[in-house]
Amino acid sequence: MFEEARRRDQQDSMADKRALFALPENCIYLDGNSLGPLPVAAKARATEVVEQQWGNDLITSWNKHSWITLPQRCGEHLAPLLGAKADQVICCDSISVNLFKLLCGALALQHGRTKIITTTDNFPTDVYIVQGIQQLLGEERCQLITVDETEIEAALNDDVAILLLTQVNFRTGNVLNMAKLTEMAHQHGILTVWDLAHSAGVLPLELDNCQVDFAVGCTYKYLNGGPGAPAFMYVAERHENAFIQPITGWMGHATPFTFSSSYTPHQSVSQSLTGTPSVISMSVLEASLEMWSDVDIHQVRQKSIELGEFMLNCMQHLQLTDTLPLASPLNPNQRGSQLAFKHDHAYAICQAWIAEGVIADFRAPNILRVGFAPLYISFQDIWTACEALQKIMQEKTYLQPEYQKKQTVT
Ligand SMILES: *Cc1c(COP(=O)(O)O)cnc(C)c1O
Repeated sequence: MFEEARRRDQQDSMADKRALFALPENCIYLDGNSLGPLPVAAKARATEVVEQQWGNDLITSWNKHSWITLPQRCGEHLAPLLGAKADQVICCDSISVNLFKLLCGALALQHGRTKIITTTDNFPTDVYIVQGIQQLLGEERCQLITVDETEIEAALNDDVAILLLTQVNFRTGNVLNMAKLTEMAHQHGILTVWDLAHSAGVLPLELDNCQVDFAVGCTYKYLNGGPGAPAFMYVAERHENAFIQPITGWMGHATPFTFSSSYTPHQSVSQSLTGTPSVISMSVLEASLEMWSDVDIHQVRQKSIELGEFMLNCMQHLQLTDTLPLASPLNPNQRGSQLAFKHDHAYAICQAWIAEGVIADFRAPNILRVGFAPLYISFQDIWTACEALQKIMQEKTYLQPEYQKKQTVT
């Protein structure tokens, strides 16, 4: 397997991209789906923004270094990756806050309809936000309905206001069919909101072609924007005039610097902004997004599938398949850029793996999750990681007490 890994790395047309990242030595990073590593360009931009722009140019930087248009510029960098024409994507806030804005705004467009359908095992914040809106507006205006991933189609009818779905399940990696579900929702007059947290930067997306109404996503996972980097939101052009989001802050005003005492929404996706952008974070994000201009996302997807399949082959070769059964779909076209394995000691196994220099993550209750970021992961990384895992499983080192204690963030 080692020879095969080496051969495939030599043939890898994306191998040169690894040099764009400041990865620590002796570390195999299989957690880029949770927090993408530091791009070299982002590190340089952080220094420039802090020392030069903030340090020397102070408040003049809003104009001199165009801080004020960072949310729009980051949106422009993202649009091609999302399959979106310009002027529909903007960066701001977090997924959670952006979902609140989109769901409230979308509900207001659906007179007489109250139901928001989502999946039971959606990422919890998506569900919590709907619960919060239900509490705020009352059940006569917002009603959360959760269904199993396999029962989405059956739940769609003319009473439903919004279908809120995450394209890639954060535990299993199962991918929902965006084109089909969006079309089916539209047949019932339902608006769609897609969460692209585990899609953006790793799956080819076609928001415009799929006629998606609204979408959110984060930039600190596969897009390497840095811890807590601002999220993005997509508002389809056809909704731009009617859609009004409820957190009507000054940055979404048509003319923020007239300091008018009444709110007039901006007639563009900029209306989705609320307050002052987090300039340092968004500048770093912009540097990370610039990397994508010459990356072919279809090639990224291809390598991601190959890495996943190669890992499954390695696991089989090392006889790990029975002890660590796959919780992800077996068909690579049905899963995102990750593999999930089930084990009662998944947390401790993950800790023991980290001690061996392989960073993956654990998702409650029993999932060992491995993410593949094709820009910097090699086939040799996968083989080395699997060998380390075999040693841990064989010697049962995960039973050692130091690997049992759960930390605050898992
Ligand atoms: C990571 C993730 C989030 C994170 O939301 P934030 O508000 O940005 O913290 C939301 N949804 C999904 C599906 C995620 O995977």
